[in-house]
Amino acid sequence: MAIKDVPKYKDIRNKIRRNGSFPYVGTAVKDTHVIHHSLTPMNAGGSNPYSFADYHIDTHGWPSIGYNIVIMPDGTVYHCNDFDKRAYHAGNTNTRSIGTCLAGDFRKGKEKPTKAQLKSLYNVNKELYKELKNMRRTIGHFECPGYSWKNCPGDGWDYNDAINQKTGSSAGPSDLPSYYTVQEGDTFWSIAKEIEGLSMDDLMKMNPSIDPKKLMPGMKLKMAKEANGSTYTVKKNDTLWGIARAYSGVDASDIKKANNLKSDVIHPGDKLIIPGKKNNNTSNSSSKTSSTSGTIKKGSNVTLSKSANKYATGERIPSSVKGKSYTVQQVKSDRVLLKEIYSWVYKKDVNGGSSSSSSSSSSSSSNINTVGHIKIVNVNNAAIVMDRPDRENSKNLGTISKGKKVEIAGSVKGKNSNTGYWEIIYKGRRAYITGKYGKQV
Ligand SMILES: [Zn+2]
Repeated sequence: MAIKDVPKYKDIRNKIRRNGSFPYVGTAVKDTHVIHHSLTPMNAGGSNPYSFADYHIDTHGWPSIGYNIVIMPDGTVYHCNDFDKRAYHAGNTNTRSIGTCLAGDFRKGKEKPTKAQLKSLYNVNKELYKELKNMRRTIGHFECPGYSWKNCPGDGWDYNDAINQKTGSSAGPSDLPSYYTVQEGDTFWSIAKEIEGLSMDDLMKMNPSIDPKKLMPGMKLKMAKEANGSTYTVKKNDTLWGIARAYSGVDASDIKKANNLKSDVIHPGDKLIIPGKKNNNTSNSSSKTSSTSGTIKKGSNVTLSKSANKYATGERIPSSVKGKSYTVQQVKSDRVLLKEIYSWVYKKDVNGGSSSSSSSSSSSSSNINTVGHIKIVNVNNAAIVMDRPDRENSKNLGTISKGKKVEIAGSVKGKNSNTGYWEIIYKGRRAYITGKYGKQV
């Protein structure tokens, strides 16, 4: 599988030196994009994929270069290893991940990635989410289990700024909220550009009574498009996930089914049928799960057992993830997909559907107390909102623009500081942003 739509793309998989091959694992297990820097100064003679391959083969005894992709200072994207292989770059995370290395030494006080490099990283990341259907998160090497000591991809930059340039969240199956409350400084354009699958035109059509020039804070805008068998014409850079998210009650697999698509690949100009809304409302499961005990189904609240050892994909489950409750998004034979961490685990490792677990987890989304405000600072455009404080297993919920004021929530566990993270209230839910991106006001 090659990647398309990435400028400066060079496929060198058949040219780069090999001394054996990496194990085949398929692409279905790939849900993580790991970012590295090479630690070699940009202008050093050996700062290129061919030299990395020599080093990895001769010094480490590996089959070839350990990364899937290398991005050069001029923005050239070298594709070095197939995506369906387990290349060696991030230890325990290798099976489930694609490794991208930016050539350079990006530790504090050393070099910075070039603009061309950042642009290519953005393109590559976006493309991976498009090509690999289970891709869910992008993390730095230091965020992989066991690597918190590693200064990779370097503390002199923040890869999040590059990968979230435009899209905010990369891909998420949950619907947009039906209504959006206008905040100070918002325009139709600024709202639409944050959300894949939603254009300014859509916003205007959905809200015919609102004059875009007279937006006032507090106004409610209709956001979710009604599907009901309408058609959607694919635009450049659209993904199935993004399109589905903009319609209420429809997910990517529904669109796939309705259009007989064999893969997630869609092309600009394709006309897609958007099937009608499903009856069940899985996003608000609090009342439904209370009567079911023991049967695990879509929408069930389950607790991941503390004795659980491995994900269904084979990776070790970090202890920070265990003992917490999650929503079941999908059930398949002996395994379930947990919505909040986007991971498949074995059914035997979850304790399901009991009323006690559902009531405890649903209470977290209401009755959140505000204890103060922060202002978004130290970012180029916007801070990313995460659903969990630890980046390792969290997903992006959206973004909050620079300069915006946000309510912070009280918590007994939360660090709520600029060295830890801020626990904030985001669309009525408890959510988190990186500490340095907020200043208490
Ligand atoms: Zn690394």
